[in-house]
Amino acid sequence: MKKVPFATKEQLEEICKDYPTPFHLYDEAGIRATARAVNQAFAWNSGFREYFAVKATPTPGILKILHEEGCGMDCSSETELLMCQRCGIVGEEIMFSSNDTPAEEFALADQLGAIINLDDFTHIAFLEQTIGRIPETISCRFNPGGVFRLGESKEGFQVMDNPGDAKYGMTREQLFQAFRVLKAKGAKRFGIHSFLASNTISNDYYPALAGQLFRLAVELERETGAKVSFINLSGGVGVAYRPDQEPNDIFAIGEGVRKQYEEILVPAGMGDVAIYTEMGRFMLAPHGHLVTRVLHEKHTYKEYLGVDACAANLMRPAMYGAYHHITVMGKETQPCDHKYDVVGSLCENSDKFAVDRMLPEVEMGDLMVIHDTGAHGFSMGYNYNGRLRSAELLLREDGRVEQMRRAETPDDYFATLIW
Ligand SMILES: *Cc1c(COP(=O)(O)O)cnc(C)c1O
Repeated sequence: MKKVPFATKEQLEEICKDYPTPFHLYDEAGIRATARAVNQAFAWNSGFREYFAVKATPTPGILKILHEEGCGMDCSSETELLMCQRCGIVGEEIMFSSNDTPAEEFALADQLGAIINLDDFTHIAFLEQTIGRIPETISCRFNPGGVFRLGESKEGFQVMDNPGDAKYGMTREQLFQAFRVLKAKGAKRFGIHSFLASNTISNDYYPALAGQLFRLAVELERETGAKVSFINLSGGVGVAYRPDQEPNDIFAIGEGVRKQYEEILVPAGMGDVAIYTEMGRFMLAPHGHLVTRVLHEKHTYKEYLGVDACAANLMRPAMYGAYHHITVMGKETQPCDHKYDVVGSLCENSDKFAVDRMLPEVEMGDLMVIHDTGAHGFSMGYNYNGRLRSAELLLREDGRVEQMRRAETPDDYFATLIW
């Protein structure tokens, strides 16, 4: 699908008068539309709730918009919990899905009334010691091990990931034992959670995962007598970073999960189980742009375009060679007949937003939009080379632009120094 920026060149140049590049810009209308589509796709399930994965975009302005659309928040650290508290999001609107969890964080999650999702069997005792009891509502993370594959074709598998290599979750045996122990210690409402594959471009991922978890839930209830109240499909629903990819259809995904629900849970008398999701990428990635300007052209063994953003603003390309589409603003209709590496300034050769990318002829001063940076973009930022985090701006539905977070200054960088 053709990638079209959600702001025009004129709009961006206007914004640049107040806020220098680089900056992250988010699209309120798009965020609300996606949240509404998700809620509609799962409206057949009366207990449904999307718990937005805060780590994807830990920005209060964004969390508040999602909360207005009915989303809860999925947190995994003290700071993420505190951010929700500051946004007025507390109680069972928080899912605390963490691993290798410090005691203070369990204590804070409990104090805020969050639903706690245990990553390991040993965390039962650790939690009980920490907060002095076992909460009545509790969730356990399941890891089936092995390899997860989906949609075999001549080109290979549509989705393939390695839960067996992942540090998260409990084995099947541990999960059954955990339910028995938790029940004996007073837990009354149980949840199961599992995350088997990341950035899946397939309408079949959630339905396949749901099928596995629904069968497991039926067995868990029968064998342990614990009441399964919710099933958390976690994150992993992907976005089409590349223009040639077919985006996921959330309505087909919701419908696929409904079929599994009606085939497995309803006949088992479990038609009251709530479905939860914890999507980050799907909710936000397409609704953020990293806006950057071309500072330099360099012609050596390759053609380089040096921009004013760097991997400290968006780490995914440097870290995993991830593709992010680039639009040269104002040149959308020109032929992409020039091959460039688009690079940042870090003293790290991996600091390249694009390698051998075909673009229109670019001139110094051109504005570029790097697409799909609304999730795992700003949030993965860092300060290597003394590079500073950029501002985060919100394009309101009425076209106004508001700054949600200012850019860091050198004073911020030096603020933690003792001497
Ligand atoms: C990262 C994460 C998510 C969100 O994953 P996305 O791929 O962004 O949807 C959800 N739940 C947990 C526990 C996570 O760690």
